[in-house]
Amino acid sequence: QSNVISVAPILTKLKKDCATPLPVLRHVADAMASDMRAGLAVEGGSDLKMILSYVDSLPTGNEKGLFYALDLGGTNFRVLRVQLGGKEERVIATEFEQVSIPPELMFGTSEELFDFIASGLAKFAEKEGGKFNLPDKQTREIGFTFSFPVQQTSVDSGILIKWTKGFAVSGTAGKDVVACLNEAMQRLGLDMRVSALVNDTVGTLAGARYWDDDVMVAVILGTGTNACYVERIDAIPKLQCHNSTFGRTIINTEWGAFSNGLPLTEFDREMDADSINPGEQIFEKTISGMYLGEIVRRVLLKMAQAGELFGDSISEKLLTPFMLRTPDVCAIQQDTSKDLEVVGSFLRDVVGVSSKLSARQIVVEVCDTIAKRGGRLAGAGIVGILEKMEMDSKGLIFGKRTVVAMDGGLYEHYPQYRTYLQEAVNELLGPEITKNIVIEHTKDGSGIGAALLAATNSKYG
Ligand code: ADP
Repeated sequence: QSNVISVAPILTKLKKDCATPLPVLRHVADAMASDMRAGLAVEGGSDLKMILSYVDSLPTGNEKGLFYALDLGGTNFRVLRVQLGGKEERVIATEFEQVSIPPELMFGTSEELFDFIASGLAKFAEKEGGKFNLPDKQTREIGFTFSFPVQQTSVDSGILIKWTKGFAVSGTAGKDVVACLNEAMQRLGLDMRVSALVNDTVGTLAGARYWDDDVMVAVILGTGTNACYVERIDAIPKLQCHNSTFGRTIINTEWGAFSNGLPLTEFDREMDADSINPGEQIFEKTISGMYLGEIVRRVLLKMAQAGELFGDSISEKLLTPFMLRTPDVCAIQQDTSKDLEVVGSFLRDVVGVSSKLSARQIVVEVCDTIAKRGGRLAGAGIVGILEKMEMDSKGLIFGKRTVVAMDGGLYEHYPQYRTYLQEAVNELLGPEITKNIVIEHTKDGSGIGAALLAATNSKYG
């Protein structure tokens, strides 16, 4: 065979193409900061949409009363209620329920979908009792987390740009999703109202901020990725005549669309070309959970084809897109046994190939290379946001304790990824500043965060 090349050069080239030495991280952080600026200057000024949340007051801990949250972001929706007791009593009680959305509703009409959601909400509200209570004659207020692309028009309204994640509901795009929900509630005679429409990162920031005044940034690293942060009104040229008593607001960066100066490989380019959104969401495709496993699969396939990594057979599974998932890549990296038994049985049982120790070691190195690049680039992105804030506030970020709230399954479950992310932050900021920057995992804060934003935007407040 004339075109058989050995595996080693492929690995060497992969590592070189994925390398993230300090100058690369520096470039990515700077580019993130300048893309943010460009997106704040004018609508459509950059890859980063820098969407205004219209949230102009953040939870303080003083919130009191009963509030609801509704979270629609995938094939399930979640409803939650929380009874808030102010600074002393804090969260007196919470209850939540998860309802799965029948697949046919994902392809139905807007009315059908929102009627289904409203009736789920009504059933949940009926069971209210115990520690939950609402003052007489008040309407129950809802924080609505809606994790699809929305052009926010006020804190409690926003127009759906398009459905994503497999939803193909007719008649919602171009409409105000809060009006859609309110109309469905009216049809049911359900007396509830949406006081805040929030993106899930914004909910995460609000939920974390309730417990800690130093939270300034929230990042989600799960199937996809996104980040938001607290911005000064006077640093948003594209925002005209908005009166905010707080003087600040939350900006949803939609940073998954970032693409400037990323170290990409042939495998990334091919995966992107084969994706449903070629050329879009490049940062997301490099760092988030949906894609890390698929990049590894593409590398291993090339190694198997070109260099006989697993003997001379190529398994059907290795040829199947998205067959290798990020949790698998993570599991491979947790194998500390001398002869990599876990990796070996994974390759046999899941990938369907037999492997020698040398092949298993290469597989581990490939996984590590992709996870390391992802974690380090995510860290550089975070530093980019912090540096943008620092430059505009002159010392109010790096000179004091600043918290970055993190959520998402990738960050939560992948220890090496988390370590690489933190290392990049340390390298970029240096030991002194790093002491002030706290990267903190906040699990499922976004549900309560939405309810808290309903409270801060309550019409009874
Ligand atoms: P979502 O982002 O889908 O709303 P999560 O925040 O729970 O939900 O993230 C789920 C994602 O996290 C999965 O798609 C997967 O990519 C990633 N993930 C889950 N478990 C692990 C794991 N053990 N190791 C690495 N990544 C994981």
